[in-house]
Amino acid sequence: MSIVVQKFGGSSVADAEKIHRAARRAIKTKLDGHQVVMTVSAMGKTTDKLVALANEVNPNPPRREMDMLLTTGEQVSISLMAMAIEASGHEAISFTGGQIGMLTDDSHTKARIHSIDAERIKRELDAGKIVIIAGFQGVTEHGAITTLGRGGSDTTAVALAAALKADSCEIYTDVDGVYTTDPRIVPQARKMDEITYDEMLELASLGAKVMHSRSIEFGKKYNVPIHVRSSLTDTKGTMIVAETTGMEGIVVRGVTLKRDLARVVLIGVPNKPGIAARIFAHVAKHKIVVDDIIQNVYDQGQVANISFTTSLGDAKEAVACGEELAKEIGFKQVELDENVAKVSIVGIGMKTHTGVAAQMFNALSEAKVNIQNINTSEIVISCLIDQKDGEHALQTLHAAFDLDK
Ligand code: ASP
Ligand code: MG
Repeated sequence: MSIVVQKFGGSSVADAEKIHRAARRAIKTKLDGHQVVMTVSAMGKTTDKLVALANEVNPNPPRREMDMLLTTGEQVSISLMAMAIEASGHEAISFTGGQIGMLTDDSHTKARIHSIDAERIKRELDAGKIVIIAGFQGVTEHGAITTLGRGGSDTTAVALAAALKADSCEIYTDVDGVYTTDPRIVPQARKMDEITYDEMLELASLGAKVMHSRSIEFGKKYNVPIHVRSSLTDTKGTMIVAETTGMEGIVVRGVTLKRDLARVVLIGVPNKPGIAARIFAHVAKHKIVVDDIIQNVYDQGQVANISFTTSLGDAKEAVACGEELAKEIGFKQVELDENVAKVSIVGIGMKTHTGVAAQMFNALSEAKVNIQNINTSEIVISCLIDQKDGEHALQTLHAAFDLDK
């Protein structure tokens, strides 16, 4: 019998009525002849509230205890979901991550899944039950409770689908799929029918807040087709798959804007072999994730300004790190620029089409957006721009690559 995994996010189980709606969806799938595994997130904003509460009690809460606290949210949802299904006259059973052997490593608050005991789940499915599993949580081999990082229920769902060799993995949410860009900035944004894992991974890392990145990596690794769709309607959402049907035709699939960036500029750095290596080894030691690196050489090649972008959250730490380096290596000054943003175009079709970069630069120039730096990979082209130009640039690119149509 085919197995379907259905994941319901926090907004889709926010109250009793919504829990019943999700339950009806699972029951209908079961009556259609499938075995159903559900995974649910904490109700509504529960996790945010628990995080706030923890910070009130201790501004620097131990990570192990954070996991202990946050996993309670999902435990509430699974038990209520099982009750809702039983209330409709069907059999259900709920499990925590630990109970189904969702084994993870021990990096509390961002654990990675090692294995899942699929047999335990299959026994319950074969007994005719809908099986409900707490999202976002696991357990270490020593029995400590862990979480997979914020938004991690998506990863639970895809990992379950992989372990159970499910026929499909449905992600129910409050939007009806994945969009060509953020509809709040570009009202012409359209829902995509399909997108590849690689494109989705890029969109997620470039700022599209649709799914937990790790879940897409899982999907790609185990080739689990993922269907992102609305919990309110029956319309088809977006399929995330290895290869899409109309792939050749579409060059740019989506555009993104990342605003929470900062640039740190190291001024007057000696332009000698080994200096960049020292700088970035030091940056890595501070665990700062670097995005773009830009180097300008001047004074007949004697000195350089080296800048790098990082997330706004890491900016202070990055400046502190730069100041240590200024002392150690002996350069003039460190500056922080918080007015940068990054617009990107993403599409598998770029691999086989030429002139895409020129088209992007052209569109930005016509829109009078100055490009400060350019970064490319096989399926992405990104431009660093002034933050005030961000929304305009996004709208411009969305139109320039015909994503409105
Ligand atoms: N409840 C967790 C969170 O809000 C996990 C999830 O929703 O996927 O991050
Ligand atoms: Mg949530």
